[in-house]
Amino acid sequence: MAAKSPATRAVPSPLEWEYAPAPEARDILALEDRYGLYIGGEQVAPRSRKWFPTISPATEEHLAEVALAGPRDVDLAVQAARGAFEGEWSALRPAERAKYLFRIARLIQERSRELAVAESLNGGKPIKESRDVDIPLAAAHFFYYAGWADKLEYAFPNRKPRPLGVAGQIIPWNFPLLMLSWKIAPALACGNTVVLKPAETTPLTALIFTDICRQAGLPAGVVNIITGDGSTGAHLVKHPDLDKVAFTGSTGVGKAIRRELAGTGVKLTLELGRKAANIIFDDCALDQAVEGVVHGIYFNQGHVCCAGSRLLVQESIYEPLVAKLKRRLRTIRVGDPLDKNTDLGAINSRMQLDRIRELVASGEGDGAEMYQPPCRLPERGYWFAPTVFTNVAQSSRIAQEEIFGPVLSVLTFRTPEEAVEKANNTPYGLSAGVWTEKGSRILWMAERLRAGVVWANTFNRFDPTSPFGGYKESGFGREGGLHGLEPYLRFDR
Ligand code: NAP
Ligand code: MG
Repeated sequence: MAAKSPATRAVPSPLEWEYAPAPEARDILALEDRYGLYIGGEQVAPRSRKWFPTISPATEEHLAEVALAGPRDVDLAVQAARGAFEGEWSALRPAERAKYLFRIARLIQERSRELAVAESLNGGKPIKESRDVDIPLAAAHFFYYAGWADKLEYAFPNRKPRPLGVAGQIIPWNFPLLMLSWKIAPALACGNTVVLKPAETTPLTALIFTDICRQAGLPAGVVNIITGDGSTGAHLVKHPDLDKVAFTGSTGVGKAIRRELAGTGVKLTLELGRKAANIIFDDCALDQAVEGVVHGIYFNQGHVCCAGSRLLVQESIYEPLVAKLKRRLRTIRVGDPLDKNTDLGAINSRMQLDRIRELVASGEGDGAEMYQPPCRLPERGYWFAPTVFTNVAQSSRIAQEEIFGPVLSVLTFRTPEEAVEKANNTPYGLSAGVWTEKGSRILWMAERLRAGVVWANTFNRFDPTSPFGGYKESGFGREGGLHGLEPYLRFDR
């Protein structure tokens, strides 16, 4: 047994090993006091003259001041992107464009520790996730799309692919640098220029990325980063000189953007998330399935658009599965995101914590049974213990609405037909999981599940070569893979 855990750690249960603290050093990250907007290849003060603080959700520590872009700033950023598009960028040979993307990919790898520390500090996610998932995948996205830049004619034979022009891109706070990569890499590979708005609570890695663009020698104006809040996003979407809007976030804002752009001819992609079913059949490898369930909902504090937040368990294995799951929950280490042993970090913001609490209270009110392992949460910062609800009614809000936190709702089914019906009984459809030994059943289920991604005997696996996106109110358009190029191209016949 190792030394006592620090104050920010959960109290270990008798089932647990105690771990000595293993904090990642912060000194690799040199933060500036203030960050301006990145427009036309330079850091500039906002015309709005407004700034806002960015904090660590784990400690509420102030990290830096960040510019809040207003309508004039948005306009300058779009003008810079337009200038770059009409200037050197779209005239560049595709193989030259690819070189910039390869350079960016390599620089992300070189600066990966710094980026991982910034991501965990600013967003609250465990360092082992930002280090092993977010940052490597971000680099992989740039490598992958760099490879396509000079092969578009082969990707779309006889269709004469051409760039669209200027893309306005808006991303959420759950995977800040990764979502930036999902947006910027395909856009640039296809020859577009971009104006990207990071989420209000997690601007830091996007701001470090501006320095990576500078190091890569990217021509001025090809990438513009405007920090701000929802109003900045709304101004960007309304700008009359955009050719493309790509948005990832809540369904409510996605719908508003679609209304705003209706009839304008601006190309749109929406990625909106929601209430994925993770379906466990009685012939599955039970211990593996429990690991998959845990990864499906507690990865990134459940701040995952495709999280397996609705667990559908075949009735015959309900009891052993729930018993194993509760036992496994007691080994989840909640605490300091910068500790390399942490499994569950901080909730991203006060607002998100309030939303989780409100939905959990409604679940208790509906008569569902709540289980949380013994766990002492840190006093400062935003925290929520890993939570499982059993006895959940299909109509309950915790079975229908996205909680976007470490909260799992368990429901049951008897037959594969019933599993499909329950899984599809939602206005959304981004992802689903199926756990079974039978290959034929996997294919039978995948054919019937109305979800953009269906994982079989795994969950929450991402790869730049694989398209990702939604059905129904989870949005439209695909990101990743060859499919991910199409939203950034027009085709001249
Ligand atoms: P959100 O408001 O949709 O935020 C997503 C992005 O859109 C952020 O950059 C946000 O800016 C920006 N934005 C906000 N209002 C806008 C508007 N009127 N026009 C254009 N852009 C706008 O999501 P949220 O408030 O952060 O989270 C709310 C819920 O959305 C969560 O509880 C979760 O259920 C869901 N969500 C889903 C995903 C996903 O990956 N699908 C990601 C995040 C959240 P600011 O951050 O500056 O406000
Ligand atoms: Mg917001």
